[in-house]
Amino acid sequence: MSAPDIILEADDVVVRFPGPGAGPFGLRRRHVQAVNGVSLQVRRGETIGIVGESGSGKSTLGRALLGLEPIAAGHVVLDGLAVSEGRRADVRALRRRTAMVFQDPANSLNPRRTVGDTLAEVLRVHGKAERGRTDRRVGELLAMVGLDPALAGRRPAALSGGQCQRVGIARALAVEPRLVIADECVAALDVSIQGQVINLFLDLKEQIGLTLIFIAHDLAIVRRLCDRVAVMYLGRIVEEGPTERVFRQPRHPYTMALIASIPEIDPDLALPLAPMVGEPPSPLEPPPGCAFHPRCVFAQETCRSGPPPVLRRADDHGWACILEPGALAAPLSDLPPLPVPTEREAFP
Ligand code: SF4
Repeated sequence: MSAPDIILEADDVVVRFPGPGAGPFGLRRRHVQAVNGVSLQVRRGETIGIVGESGSGKSTLGRALLGLEPIAAGHVVLDGLAVSEGRRADVRALRRRTAMVFQDPANSLNPRRTVGDTLAEVLRVHGKAERGRTDRRVGELLAMVGLDPALAGRRPAALSGGQCQRVGIARALAVEPRLVIADECVAALDVSIQGQVINLFLDLKEQIGLTLIFIAHDLAIVRRLCDRVAVMYLGRIVEEGPTERVFRQPRHPYTMALIASIPEIDPDLALPLAPMVGEPPSPLEPPPGCAFHPRCVFAQETCRSGPPPVLRRADDHGWACILEPGALAAPLSDLPPLPVPTEREAFP
């Protein structure tokens, strides 16, 4: 039974896709294990970042958590609904309680519809505005994401990328979701617009207690926005915990290498790690043992065979590596804070 403040609980979740070359007539069908035994808890009002390179399984996990990908094994319970069971009534309820914000803001909106029509349709389908109050609610939603309600009459082509993304967020908020998953939703935006969207999420967290799963490959943004972070590598969570703790005391060499690659990190700061080597292996042929071992400069013989290391825990910080805490190097206590704007930028 989940604690009352836990809105999402994923337990040992597996998502598989048929691999290339799969044959229907007795040929051995190879599968890509895109998500491989992931367990995760999200508390109400919390922002959790899921990070990792392309192919780490983070987007697939996000979709599986919302019932948008079939779950081959494991369980997901979201706000009391058994997502992994696939019951129709639960799936319908899930659509009313969750929303997703996508990477490409312009293409995720219907180009033929005005912003107002797009939002009004969501309100109508989900029964979120009384008859005669739809226009007012559309205006409120636009104001909530820092847009002039007068933009309701415009089509996406007449908006900037940042404005389109804010409309995408307004569309997500229209269902009054208990959980939003944002999948690389600022990756396609200019840096200054990224800052505005991140500030918007920070405001929404403060104002309406938004629960957010923020999927990204940009660790600097995740550090600025998220309370907790989960680092994925080849379908598994290899480290997770409170964001500042993970950033200042990473326990997994992969996390350390990702942190070292953040451009904002002072190049003169003596980071206690060597960069990882090589490219991620194919998810079709994951290495035995610790899947990170071909790229890990700390790999030992025992890392190259046997089962992958289990997630070890110290308080609410977990990591899947055989090394003892402190074996890598001193904690990153000198890590400079990232520049966080003291004043929220005004939305154009
Ligand atoms: Fe590196 Fe071994 Fe730790 Fe894997 S278990 S991250 S290979 S030291």
